[in-house]
Formats: sequence, structure tokens, C-alpha cells
Amino acid sequence: MALVVQKYGGSSVADDEKIRNVARRVAASAPGRELVVVVSAMGKTTDHLVGLAHQVSPAPDPREMDMLLATGEQVTIALLAMALQALGLRARSFTGFQAAIRTDRAHTRARITQITTERVRQSLDAGEIAVVAGFQGLSDEDEITTLGRGGSDLTAVALAAALKADVCEIYTDVDGVYTADPAVVPDAKKLARVSYDEMLEMASLGAKVLQSRSVEFAKKYGVTVHVRSTFKPDPGTLVTKEEQGMEEVVVTGVTHDRSQAKISILRVPDRPGIAAQVFGAIATKNVVVDMIVQNISRDGYTDMSFTLPRGDHRRAVTALEEVARSIGALGVVHDERVAKVSIVGVGMRSHGGVASKMFATLSKEGINIQMISTSEIAISCVIEDKYAELAVRALHDAFEVGKGANR
Ligand code: ADP
Ligand code: ASP
Ligand code: MG
Repeated sequence: MALVVQKYGGSSVADDEKIRNVARRVAASAPGRELVVVVSAMGKTTDHLVGLAHQVSPAPDPREMDMLLATGEQVTIALLAMALQALGLRARSFTGFQAAIRTDRAHTRARITQITTERVRQSLDAGEIAVVAGFQGLSDEDEITTLGRGGSDLTAVALAAALKADVCEIYTDVDGVYTADPAVVPDAKKLARVSYDEMLEMASLGAKVLQSRSVEFAKKYGVTVHVRSTFKPDPGTLVTKEEQGMEEVVVTGVTHDRSQAKISILRVPDRPGIAAQVFGAIATKNVVVDMIVQNISRDGYTDMSFTLPRGDHRRAVTALEEVARSIGALGVVHDERVAKVSIVGVGMRSHGGVASKMFATLSKEGINIQMISTSEIAISCVIEDKYAELAVRALHDAFEVGKGANR
């Protein structure tokens, strides 16, 4: 019998009617299959809980944050199990702990280290639909942890890998992965297939339809992921190994990320050990930096700039102002609102002139590029936040993205 892991995101289970809708969908796909269903917290519950935490504390303790956030998913699993039972199906809910999802100790961004499938397996063997809470696990100290925002995708993919499921279906409010965020680019096209590497770049560069760590995991364990709509029956997008022909398309997707900030540290003495000191200070504040640019040195001094998640911006500026003083730099300037726009495609490996076309497209729109970074299959530019949507649309047009959507 086929074993399928299905995951329903927050907007798919936002209220009681939507939960009943999911129950009907699960029921319709149950005959002849073993089903594990992973769910997120209802609607904007997680955002609401994060907000509450910041109402009672300026710097909520990460352990307590995880204790709080894990409650969101626990509500949904119980309600979905009840809704399935009301339809006459056998179903049982499991928290991350009960599903034996073990993680490291990194509260609020934990990594899955091991899954023992015994209990979920027993539930399936008993003819039940196993409903598992997404986003949560347990550390080796038996502390509740969470897997980073969007982490229910990871729960689903990791369970699919551990149970050797035939497919991991991610049900969401869009009917697949598009060539750009369909909320921003009306002309965006649904991709029939996308390679793991492209999806990984798109997810890390802002396409929140899949959590990037879940894609990493799917690639590592060869899990086939099918992104599709909770509300429509149509097939969605398959995230799979790279296949022949995929390289013919130069740009597969355009992404944007508007949750970034930029910090520059000015006139830094250019000598060995300085970068380590600067970024060491930020790392101790648990801030993960993204793009880093260091200018050519003039008169023994240089400027350094980097981007980071906007939420970490204040903490990083405070830490850097201290370092700037101690190493004799001129000072720190920052911009709390920048955006990153990126083009992604495995075809870039074999096509030239892609970067210059990207820069020319942005310049034609009068958009100034503040920073650039490239990988083998992606090019990203940091720009002023207010131009993010214009930039995405212009790039989507210029590269005729979507022409090869059904490759
Ligand atoms: P869920 O709550 O189901 O996990 P998310 O909100 O995390 O759903 O992800 C779905 C959203 O991702 C869509 O509503 C869409 O606006 C956004 N999105 C951004 N980029 C893309 C893209 N390239 N393709 C599809 N959706 C995208
Ligand atoms: N509820 C969590 C979040 O909002 C996990 C998820 O939805 O995937 O980030
Ligand atoms: Mg999500």
C-alpha cells in the first residue's frame, strides 16, 4: 500500500470550516493508502503568539518561546483528529514528542537529528490516520524545541524520509510553485517541475512556499515533494532531481525577500583578524548574516557591509557600535529596510550574459543596486525596499520567465 505524508499549512486550517474541509480531503485520499498528516498552527496563530511574547518581555527566553509556540500546532492536531473521527475515520493525533522527532538544542531554530518511527508506524498498522504536529520536536534534554518559521514543511519531509513514504504532499493556499510570487506578479506561471537545487535557492532567497531547510532535507534523502492546493484538486509542482532539459531554461524563477536590513561599518583598519572580530561579535549575538561585501582598501582602511534579517538588526547594530569603537573604525551606518531580488535557474550554468542583463533591467527602471551576490545558479541584488515589486516584475518580463514553465 502506498504511504503518503500530507502537510496542510496555517491558511489551510485557519478556522473550523477549513479544518473540516481538510478532513474531507484527507478522507477522500485515504482509501488504499496509509496516511500521515502533518499540520501547522491555525491561521496566524504563530505570529500572534510571537507578538504576545514580546508584549510581556523585551527579549523572550528562547526556551519559553518554544514552549509557547508549540501550543499552536497542538490545537490543530486534536481538532483535525476529531474532524476525521466525525467523518467515521480512525485517526490519532501526536505531538512532536510523541512522534519521536528528536532535535538539537537550538531553541527556535532547531535541527532534526533523529526520528524513531515506531509509534507512528504502530498507528498506521492499526489502520489509523496519524495526525502529527508540525514545527516541533524534543531535544536530548527533553526540552520542547521548534524548527524555525515555516518548520512544518520540514516535519513533513523528515517524516516522509524516515517512513520511506512514496511522496510528501505539501498542501497550501497556492496550487504550486510559481515562477515568482503570484501575489506580486500576476503573470507568474505554475512550474510543473522544479529541481531541488533551484527550489532550495528560491526558498532561501524569499519564496516562502517551502521552508528552505525542508528542501535541503528532501534533496539529501531523495524525497519527492509535491506542492499543491488545499482548495483545488489540480496537480501542482513536483520538486525532484534535476532532469534533462531543465538547463535549457535560463531563469526558472524570480524571488524577492523584503525582510532584510543592511549594516555598514565604515573606515575599518584593513589588517588581519578584523573581519573575524567584527563578525565574531555578531555571531555571539546569535545573528546570522547573509551577504557580505568588503571594499578595496584605501590608505589602509576599508568599508564592510552586510545584510541580515530585519528582526536582528537592532541587536547587531548595538554589538557593532561597540566593536567599531574598540577597533578604531569611523562608525556604523544602517538601513533597516532593504530588499533582495534574485533570479534562479540551473540554466545559468551554461548561458552567458545573465548578470549583465539583470543589471541592465534594474537600471532601466532607475533602480540602484547596493550589493550583488552570485552562486552557480542564482544572482541576487540588494535594492531599496520600495522598488522590490517593480524589480521582480521587470526581471520576470525581461527574462521571459515562465515560457518554459511546463518543461
Ligand atoms: P502555508 O501556510 O501553507 O505554509 P505559506 O504562506 O508559508 O503557506 O506559503 C505560501 C505562500 O507563498 C503563497 O501564498 C505565496 O504568496 C507565497 N509565495 C512566494 N513565492 C512563491 C512562489 N514562487 N510560488 C508560490 N508561492 C509563493
Ligand atoms: N506555525 C509555524 C509558523 O507559522 C510553522 C509552520 O506554519 O510551518 O512558522
Ligand atoms: Mg509555510
